[in-house]
Amino acid sequence: MKTLDQIAAELQGYDPLALSATAVNEFLSRMVEPIQQTETLGIFDALGRVLAEDLISPLNVPPHDNSAMDGFAFAGQQLVRGQKLQLKVVGTAMAGRAWHGQVRSGECLKVMTGAVMPAGLDTVVPQELATVQQIGGAEFISIQSGVLATGDNRRLLGEDIQKGQAALRKGATLSPAGLGLIASLGLGQVCVWRKLRVAYFSTGDEILSLGEPPREGAVYDSNRYTIFGLLSRLGVEVIDLGVVPDQPDLLEAAFRRAAHLSDAIITSGGVSVGEADHTKAMMMKLANHPSGDGGVAFWRIAMRPGRPMAVGRIARDSDSSSGLGGTAVLFGLPGNPVAVIVTFLAFVRPALLQMMGSTAKPLPLLRASSAEVIRKKPGRTEYQRGIVSTRPDGSLQVKITGNQGSGVLSSVTAANGLIVLHHDQGNVAIGDQIDVMMFDGVI
Ligand code: AMP
Ligand code: MG
Repeated sequence: MKTLDQIAAELQGYDPLALSATAVNEFLSRMVEPIQQTETLGIFDALGRVLAEDLISPLNVPPHDNSAMDGFAFAGQQLVRGQKLQLKVVGTAMAGRAWHGQVRSGECLKVMTGAVMPAGLDTVVPQELATVQQIGGAEFISIQSGVLATGDNRRLLGEDIQKGQAALRKGATLSPAGLGLIASLGLGQVCVWRKLRVAYFSTGDEILSLGEPPREGAVYDSNRYTIFGLLSRLGVEVIDLGVVPDQPDLLEAAFRRAAHLSDAIITSGGVSVGEADHTKAMMMKLANHPSGDGGVAFWRIAMRPGRPMAVGRIARDSDSSSGLGGTAVLFGLPGNPVAVIVTFLAFVRPALLQMMGSTAKPLPLLRASSAEVIRKKPGRTEYQRGIVSTRPDGSLQVKITGNQGSGVLSSVTAANGLIVLHHDQGNVAIGDQIDVMMFDGVI
C-alpha cells in the first residue's frame, strides 16, 4: 500500500493548498483499494451489488432457434422473387411444447411466439401477412411476393448469450436487467463483493441533533441525513455515529469507533483552514499507525463550493476484531451542506465505487444550452445547481436554481442536475453549451 507521501510524490505539481478537482480524483484513485471479501447471494438480494467474478453462461440463450412471431414457419429457400408462395399447414408448435413431425417442401408449420423451430425451417411469416384458405379439408396459406426474406422473424440459438461466454463482467453493478439476465442463464445465485461499510458523523458545537430544542446560534444537523441518502443510493452498509461535539475525548472515541466498524469514514465540518475546533488535530493524531499506512492530508481544492477537505487513512486499534486491515479510509468533508453533496459526488462517490470493486465509469455529463449568463473565473471548478428542461425544438436548456450559496440546500432540492464549469472555463454566455451531471438515480 502506498503512503500518502508516496502518492503525492507521484503526482506532478502536487500542491495541497491549490489542488485541481482532477488531481483530487487522481490522488484518491491511488489511495483506496478494493475490498477482497466476497459473498454468494440469491438473486433477490443481489440488486445493486457488484459482481466479484465474470458470470460465465452455462447455456445458450435462447437455447434453440425459435419463432419471434405468431405465424407460420417454413424453409425460406422456397421464396421466389415475383412469385406468390402457397404452403400447406401440417401442424402447430406452441411455445414450450416442441413439435416432432416433419415439414417438407411445400409445407409449413403454424408456430406461436417462442415455439422451437424444427430443423430445416428458418423463416416465419407473421400471421397478418399470410392469407389462410381451406382447400379440400386441408389448411393452406399464401404469402405475397416481396413481403418476406429468408431468416425473417426467427431468433437464433445463442443470439443473446452463448454458452461459455461472459454474460456479465466482474465489477459490474447488478441492475434490474442484470438480475433478469442471471435468471435467464438458469442461475439462482451470484458471487458479489461484500458490502462496503461506511461510518459517518457530523462535527461541530453548533450542530443540533433532531429532537433537541432550538438554541441560539445552533443549526439542525442536515449533513448526516444527506450523507445517509447518498450512501444508501450507492448500496453500501451505512453506520450512523451521530453528532459529535467539539471535544477531544468525544472526537477521539468517535473516530476510533468509526475505524473499528468500517472500511471508510465520512465526517463533515471542522476541516476548514482557521477552524478553532479539534477535528483536524484528532485526525492527525489517529492517522499514526505502526504500519506507516496511516496519514492525513488537508487540502484546499480549487473548486466552489467545497474548498476544504481532508483525506487519509485512520488507524484501527490493533485488537480490532473487525477483520478489516490496519486502517480505515477517511473523507473529511467541509461542513456546508451543499459542499458536502458536491464533494461527495465529485470525489467520494468514485473512490467508494473503486473500494466496492465496481468498474463503473464516471457519471456521464449532458450538454445543455445555458439559459443565462454565469460568471466564472478560470482556475477552479465550479458546481452550480441547475434545472435541465427540454425546449419545444427538442434541445436541452439549463437554468440555475436561484441563490447558489454553499449553505443553501434548497438550491439542490430545486435542481435536477449539477452544472459543472470546468477548471479552465471562463464566463458563460446565454446559449453556450455547458456540462450537467444529472441527479436522476444518483441523488
Ligand atoms: P465548517 O466546515 O465546520 O466550518 O462548517 C461550515 C458551515 O457548515 C457552518 O456554517 C456550519 O454550521 C455548517 N455545518 C457544519 N456541519 C453541519 C451539519 N452537519 N449540518 C448542517 N450544517 C452544518
Ligand atoms: Mg465547524
